[in-house]
Amino acid sequence: MKPTDAVLAVTYRCNARCVMCDIWKSNSSQSAALEPRDYARLPTSLKNINISGGEPFLRNDLPEVVEVITKRCPNARLVFSTNGLSPALVKKSLPKVLKVNPEVSIRFSVDGIGKIHQEMRGIEGAFDRVMSSLNIALDLGVKDAGLSYTATNTNLDQLLAIYYLTQQKKVNFTFCGVAHNSEIEGYFTQGNKEINDLELLGQQLNYLVKKHLQTWDPNLLARAYYEYGIYFREVYKKRPLYCGAADVLFYMDPFGNIFSCNIANKLMGNIVDSDFEIIWKSTEADNSRIFAKKCPHQCWMICTVSPYLKKRPIIPLLWILVNKIKLALGKEVIEVSNSRAIV
Ligand code: SF4
Ligand code: SF4
Repeated sequence: MKPTDAVLAVTYRCNARCVMCDIWKSNSSQSAALEPRDYARLPTSLKNINISGGEPFLRNDLPEVVEVITKRCPNARLVFSTNGLSPALVKKSLPKVLKVNPEVSIRFSVDGIGKIHQEMRGIEGAFDRVMSSLNIALDLGVKDAGLSYTATNTNLDQLLAIYYLTQQKKVNFTFCGVAHNSEIEGYFTQGNKEINDLELLGQQLNYLVKKHLQTWDPNLLARAYYEYGIYFREVYKKRPLYCGAADVLFYMDPFGNIFSCNIANKLMGNIVDSDFEIIWKSTEADNSRIFAKKCPHQCWMICTVSPYLKKRPIIPLLWILVNKIKLALGKEVIEVSNSRAIV
């Protein structure tokens, strides 16, 4: 099976000082990243590419990178994950990016309203900065802009506030997931803790899941299942669905190293040293697939879950059907009184 989804960290440099991530402390952020031309080595089978970092807008040659990726993978949807902390950089680079690919989507990370976002991101005025960047993107005509929220014990009570903000701004909302730890050196921190107030998480997710289940929009229905999965994973410490790492998706760091995902340290090869096809058929890739089936991390993040929702839609579809009926009968989807999720 050829991969359909990839997360590409185009740089480990970052202008944030987030509490849930160590990238900005890492020496690897200083190493030379891939040249734009190297992205022509990506597989043409990709349909969804998440361009992240670090902070992707810190790359001066970002429009060139996007141009190469767009030419190489013309059928791929490109989604930027950005902290939006530098409106000036967004204003400078985004028009050039849109010139080479007018269809790009953008998600700005926002973890709370006002001071709480500043506390999470460690940058003065963080909330106002990211709102300015969002407005710039909307003024430039980005068709699919949105806010992306990551939960920790510090900002858990902000989930619905960010959701309401997206409704007010008429932009998309993404619950990225609970902050995870990554084994990959120089990437996310190792210090993220599990959510300790499951009741608060469950109450907020129950509201969101019900909202999304009440529609017939396939994307929002898939969201409902994904959001339910966040709660399921926190309660039972396991995913409600298999993992597709090294099967339909991979993660590539700024230096061309190909990993099965961005959490487990399963290196499969380097795109500069080897053709992607050889990496994908290697023993390391086979071992990563076997590992993913019994992976101890059992992570649940939008970037690693959504590819498998598309590949194995039966379980999510059944869940949607059952829970639409439950809603019609006036029942709750997530019952929080005893901190247990009900399928
Ligand atoms: S979470 Fe994102 S914005 Fe924050 S330090 Fe890490 S890469 Fe930078
Ligand atoms: S469950 Fe394991 S292999 Fe799968 S994406 Fe998460 S960390 Fe990677």
